[in-house]
Amino acid sequence: MTDTLKALVFDLDGTLYFSEELGREIGRIAAVYIARLKGIDTAAAVELLRETRQRLTRSQGFEASLSIACLDLGGNLEDLHALFASEVNPDGILQRDERVVASLAALGRRFALHLYTNNNRALSSRIMEIIGVAGMFDQVFTIEDSWRPKPDRQVLTELFAGIGLEPGETLFVGDRYDIDLLLPGQMGAQVHLVGRIEDLLALNEITERGQTMSGATKEMLDAILRAMEIEKETFDFYTRAEQKTFNAAGKRIFHWLAKTEEEHYLKLSELYASLEHRERWVFYGGSTIELEPDAGGHVGVDTGDREALEVAMEIEKKGIAYFGQLIEKTADPEGRSMLTTLLNEEREHLRIIAEKYGALAKG
Ligand SMILES: [Mg+2]
Repeated sequence: MTDTLKALVFDLDGTLYFSEELGREIGRIAAVYIARLKGIDTAAAVELLRETRQRLTRSQGFEASLSIACLDLGGNLEDLHALFASEVNPDGILQRDERVVASLAALGRRFALHLYTNNNRALSSRIMEIIGVAGMFDQVFTIEDSWRPKPDRQVLTELFAGIGLEPGETLFVGDRYDIDLLLPGQMGAQVHLVGRIEDLLALNEITERGQTMSGATKEMLDAILRAMEIEKETFDFYTRAEQKTFNAAGKRIFHWLAKTEEEHYLKLSELYASLEHRERWVFYGGSTIELEPDAGGHVGVDTGDREALEVAMEIEKKGIAYFGQLIEKTADPEGRSMLTTLLNEEREHLRIIAEKYGALAKG
């Protein structure tokens, strides 16, 4: 992947400099804006902004930006940023860090560098002057280009068109995963999260070694880990059920279920390794383990297995739902085909368990 890397797209605040003081100052001015808008005092506005961000973060499922919270409270970004531009003064708060300047200069010899910020043009220009990186970026995208704050798919689509690159040819660098990196990652860009200056200074080495990973891959790896946990729990449950039952048919069914889930687990761990090291999906043609037919027309399991079958149905339903979600998140056709095979096998499990359970109920 990394041999195709052509450009780095940096966030500004909290990414190219680290200053809690300036962050607090920006938050304070936003509260002044909201206080004027709502006719309340600044302390109440601080509280209102905090609550609003929390509520929005919960409802949208990812971190809500200050911009989004101001919009939600009936503000408009033009007025908010006019206030930022006139009131926020980074002089005396920020200083130039030669390590950052040198690091960016070195990256600039290897890649095109761009800046993409939710900040406005006047304030971000002043910040870039102070920290010594002004003029290092080929293109600077600020909130004023679109008045649509990050994360925004349309703005990103325009950004890729503007710099003339595919998402996969870019690496996004930012300090807030949900706001700066999640969406570019989903669109195919590589991503790098910066929490402290060392993360920023590591970029030269990381890009040389090709250690960056696409955000989409990272997300998928986490999802596969979760699927592996589910398979492991399911395997454990069926193994215990197999040991517990005194009924031969029950033993056979639980044994088959356990073996198939074990196979799923192994396939998923193979997939995990492959995605992690080569970013490739693996093929899964389906389980090779067959359920032996019941001997001598003996059907069904014991009433003692009733509870185990009920739990089993719940487990299989959960697995089906989880693989369904994974398929929705997966763009890769090979990945979809593999996950669909796994999903269909869990469906077949559910069908057979429900059949046995039905026979038991009929007596
Ligand atoms: Mg930032």
